[in-house]
Amino acid sequence: MERLGQVDAVALDKTGTLTEGSPRVTDVRPLPGSGLDEAELLTLAATAERPSEHPLARAVVDAARERGLDLPGAEDFTSAPGVGVTAVVDGRGVAVGAPARLLDGTGSTVTTVSEELEESGRTAVLVLVDGAPAGLLGIADRLRPDAAATVAALTTLTGTAPVLLTGDNPRAAAHLAAEAGIDDVRAGLLPQDKMAAVQELESTGRKVLVVGDGVNDAPALAAAHTGVAMGRAGSDLALETADAVIVRDELAAVPTTVALSRRARRLVVQNLVIAGVFITGLVVWDLAGNLPLPLGVAGHEGSTVLVGLNGLRLLRESAWQRAAAEGTG
Ligand code: ADP
Ligand code: MG
Repeated sequence: MERLGQVDAVALDKTGTLTEGSPRVTDVRPLPGSGLDEAELLTLAATAERPSEHPLARAVVDAARERGLDLPGAEDFTSAPGVGVTAVVDGRGVAVGAPARLLDGTGSTVTTVSEELEESGRTAVLVLVDGAPAGLLGIADRLRPDAAATVAALTTLTGTAPVLLTGDNPRAAAHLAAEAGIDDVRAGLLPQDKMAAVQELESTGRKVLVVGDGVNDAPALAAAHTGVAMGRAGSDLALETADAVIVRDELAAVPTTVALSRRARRLVVQNLVIAGVFITGLVVWDLAGNLPLPLGVAGHEGSTVLVGLNGLRLLRESAWQRAAAEGTG
């Protein structure tokens, strides 16, 4: 709680933090040579994604369920944070993930289709079957309603605009960052790159607050001066690594908590002054004059009660509201 008040730079994750983290599949595009139709492509992708806790994986599985597709069992599931998943489905090796990470080389149909999806702010997800590109999925996520206000509040509180750290593609990231009011966007980052970006900020003497939700954010959350995880859809690893968890699933709670932490610190200083003045007064009174014992006890215990009551003010709802106003004000 105390560390939160000291931060002077903020790095935000995109998927699940700046966005709602409940993305939906908007496009299913089998590639011409793959011999698959939309339903077959989605079935393979969803079967491979089912064990994953990534928000994109949930979107793919939900899309398959909505279309009433039967998902066979998958074997040999593996997952690489910031890259994607692999599994064996009906004897075929299926990989689902970021096009740039699964394929190198450009100029193919894959690049054309994925760039087209990404230009409109969507995340393009590539499906490989037995190593060959089989199709692409376009996945759209909405910015949280309080994202822009949170970015503005954090800028006011820390004196610098937050940075966006994401494993997603630069086009979709820039699209969303512009909507949220963020200029500094670092995209295409693997978990270790996110951590390096945080360490680079900290090496300039900054105390960085990282807000994230995914397994891919865990190294950055651990490296940060203070890490905060989004609670509702956050992965277990992020929740365990973070110093604090926002359980309300309100991004705006982040600047409010920072403001509240600063207020708590001011109250502690206030309380030390109150207690110091009381004790000094009583000691001087006793040394210079004659302090009656009952009065000495009452004065000493009275100052303790006063300090306690002063501290309790932070528990009132109005303290939260004041902190929220400080963030936005
Ligand atoms: P962010 O930093 O925005 O939270 P991640 O680092 O989790 O994003 O993911 C980066 C990219 O890796 C995603 O945009 C996606 O293309 C790909 N990816 C990661 N995990 C998966 C998955 N389970 N299914 C599909 N794609 C994935
Ligand atoms: Mg995320």
